[in-house]
Amino acid sequence: MQSRNILAGPYLDRAAHLRKNAQRFATALADERSRAVPVWNSCNLIIVGEAPRAALLDLSVIPEQRRNSSDLTLLGRFDDIDIFTYEIEALEPPVLQTGTRFEDLRLVASQLPAEEAGLLGYARGMVAWRNRHRFCGSCGFPTIASRAGHVLVCTNPACSHEQFPRIDPAIIVLVSDGERALLGRQAAWPAGRYSTIAGFVEPGESLEDAVAREVLEETGITVDQIEYQSSQPWPFPSSLMLGFSARALTTRIERQDDELEDAQWFSRQDLRAGRPLVPPNVSISFRLIEQWFDAGGGPKLREILNASASR
Ligand SMILES: [Zn+2]
Repeated sequence: MQSRNILAGPYLDRAAHLRKNAQRFATALADERSRAVPVWNSCNLIIVGEAPRAALLDLSVIPEQRRNSSDLTLLGRFDDIDIFTYEIEALEPPVLQTGTRFEDLRLVASQLPAEEAGLLGYARGMVAWRNRHRFCGSCGFPTIASRAGHVLVCTNPACSHEQFPRIDPAIIVLVSDGERALLGRQAAWPAGRYSTIAGFVEPGESLEDAVAREVLEETGITVDQIEYQSSQPWPFPSSLMLGFSARALTTRIERQDDELEDAQWFSRQDLRAGRPLVPPNVSISFRLIEQWFDAGGGPKLREILNASASR
């Protein structure tokens, strides 16, 4: 089993304690080894080919009037090189380097080196946050970036509210009755695909509360033995997925909301027979299903899927 989820790190040194240091930012900006990972239309720049890579651009590609501390975010040191990110606002994707293309990270993450996928996810998450907080949530004045792009400060002197990057915690859970897994599907998904139960944590809830509530609302099943498994940053735009397993105390499925189009119990035999289609292996939902499936012994889920994909 892989040791960590795709997009999870650590893949760079964030050097968070140095963000206040304006000299550090200026030095990184002046260093010709520094690189930038741009984001356009929520997409990351990829060197396309057999083995895709993240495009790390020379800072000279950035228009000179944008090479400053209010336009750029300094992400940290990646492979001993300072990496910046910035958003490109344009109707059409700009051509910045031959052989590259702006791509949705969700579609290419599993093909990229893990460190680069994580770096691009971080860039995308930071750009999305900055993009959505151009104005102060308290008084409505424009905000301006501070601390290497990691704080947005209100420009109204009477307010000066500081906005920090936001993430939205969401639980995702593999519920089992021992032999079977409880999986659901949303109407918008490809036909036949089912996945683990998931939902956002609400104010005033613990993670365990959220697991029990979401499973009950979406399937009518009561659970206990809620145990943390692993987590995955999911910056599309700002989620943190917290993966759990749980034991079903009941088996009768009765959906209480319309979040899911359907929910069913599936046995390992069902999955071996190719039913249902499971989520892409880049996701923590796949990892949770895989973990449950493989605990049953016999051929591993990945081997079965790879074999059927190559037939
Ligand atoms: Zn304000």
